[in-house]
Amino acid sequence: MGLFKKRKYIRITPSQPETEETRQPKPFVPDGSWEKCPSCHKPLHKKELGQERTCQHCGYGFRIGAKQRLALIVDEGSFESWDTEIAFKNPINFPDYEKKVTAAKEMTGLEEAVLTGKATIDSQEVVIGIMDSRFIMGSMSSIVGEKITRAFERAQELKLPIIMFTASGGARMQEGIMSLMQMAKISGAVKRHSEAGLFYMTVLTDPTTGGVTASFAMQGDIIIAEPQTMIGFAGRRVIEQTIRQKLPDDFQKAEFLLEKGFIDKIVPRQELREVLSLLLTMHQRSECDD
Ligand SMILES: [Zn+2]
Repeated sequence: MGLFKKRKYIRITPSQPETEETRQPKPFVPDGSWEKCPSCHKPLHKKELGQERTCQHCGYGFRIGAKQRLALIVDEGSFESWDTEIAFKNPINFPDYEKKVTAAKEMTGLEEAVLTGKATIDSQEVVIGIMDSRFIMGSMSSIVGEKITRAFERAQELKLPIIMFTASGGARMQEGIMSLMQMAKISGAVKRHSEAGLFYMTVLTDPTTGGVTASFAMQGDIIIAEPQTMIGFAGRRVIEQTIRQKLPDDFQKAEFLLEKGFIDKIVPRQELREVLSLLLTMHQRSECDD
């Protein structure tokens, strides 16, 4: 009877345990030579990131330190650092705050989350400010606020344009309300610089969030962003919970903000120096402006 016939199955021989003779040589991958792009999640060999540290798939600019950024933008040896010795204060006596700042100083080699000063780009004088997200998430402390305000004031005295590279997680919670006040203080200095007929550009780098977005990051005469940069005020989850709606996937990305008219141009890091130089040339003051 066909019904009870033994079925024929394919036989699979079980794999033999590996021995010294059968073991295949495994490819050698040195530790730390690969990185995953935080934006498109594709793996990248460190060599592919290049000096600019950008993803070759989506153009995302990896987070870099302020000094590294400076080296990519300004003429070599032209930078003069300003206000490096503003004394540390713990305005609300936040526990262990000083320890945290000391650790960040050692890690970054910076005295605070922003580097300010004067430099030249293709021999054009400019005041420059670069925030560093590695220093307590580039958060806004009284010293950061004071340094940026002084940079605008000095740019106004010297009749120079100013470029601010923003990168910030927002307020420095260890300084409470003192942190929030910096936004208004800087905005005042931005306005006075603008009323003097001077040019201000912002370059939004990953991530630019919180009060920095809500103030001077968005006050530039020209607002540039790097590709795939996260730009926003509150976090995505907070907004979704508040408005009870699902937000689009690319919400808070530079590309989405460009489409909505919040920013003027997305410039890949490799072209940034050239674009900034061109914009400075276009906005140069002539003698009759005085
Ligand atoms: Zn990518």
